[in-house]
Amino acid sequence: MSSQSDPPMIRFDNVVKRFGENTVLDGFTCRMAPGEFVTLIGPSGSGKTTILRLVMTLERVTDGLIEIDGSPLSHMHRGGKLVPADEKHLAGVRKRIGMVFQQFNLFPNMTVLRNLTEAPVRVLGLAPAEADERARDLLDLVGLADKADEHPARLSGGQQQRVAIARALAMRPDVLLLDEVTSALDPELVTGVLSLLGHIADTTDITFLCVTHEMGFARDVSDRVLMFDHGHVIEDAPPEQLFTDPREERTREFLQAVV
Ligand code: ADP
Repeated sequence: MSSQSDPPMIRFDNVVKRFGENTVLDGFTCRMAPGEFVTLIGPSGSGKTTILRLVMTLERVTDGLIEIDGSPLSHMHRGGKLVPADEKHLAGVRKRIGMVFQQFNLFPNMTVLRNLTEAPVRVLGLAPAEADERARDLLDLVGLADKADEHPARLSGGQQQRVAIARALAMRPDVLLLDEVTSALDPELVTGVLSLLGHIADTTDITFLCVTHEMGFARDVSDRVLMFDHGHVIEDAPPEQLFTDPREERTREFLQAVV
């Protein structure tokens, strides 16, 4: 739990993103406190995934600022000046951010265990034995301790997504981005993955930024829900308010259409 008075873990200040003539985000401003769970909802094409991709530095802002724990993504301090970020700076910020995708994106040619140890060893410089121990603890947490030596293709979609979650946690991120993590799963596997994420959110101080169509999940785990429409946040409220008594007619219409 957190409060809005804490220094933000993620800060968006007047973020504009254009693809050619298409203005996808038009002055997005938001602060997310450490440990906060924020969910982005809204119609398809409203800019939600673009926000995750900007935080992950897969895209650059057209204008405005994004900071992670006070460190700007697009710029860095050098010789008393603020200069455009170089790849080393971006890699440093990226280390603190994990992302779980709709399509799992596991390394198909590596065992489950190796999927979890690869980045901690290569990127964080962990000793292999330590990375191994961390990975086995996480596989235990996600209920897949017995799958360490399997290859991802031999697992169900739900199991693969649990591995992807464990892989993200193996980097001990401060921020975890979730992009429609249950969209590719068979319906009977969705609940298990969502309850795992709810458990992780409850028991860690990771800051979550989540895009989902699972409104029940958003309602259960979020501290705040942001409703997007055409590149703007039209409503920003605790879930109990947004889902039961939205202020905006557009939010009401959207919820009626998806629930
Ligand atoms: P959402 O996640 O809300 O469905 P997105 O952030 O994926 O929305 O997309 C918002 C808009 O940005 C869409 O109009 C989409 O076509 C456009 N867009 C996203 N990524 C790119 C890209 N790499 N190049 C051009 N347009 C893009």
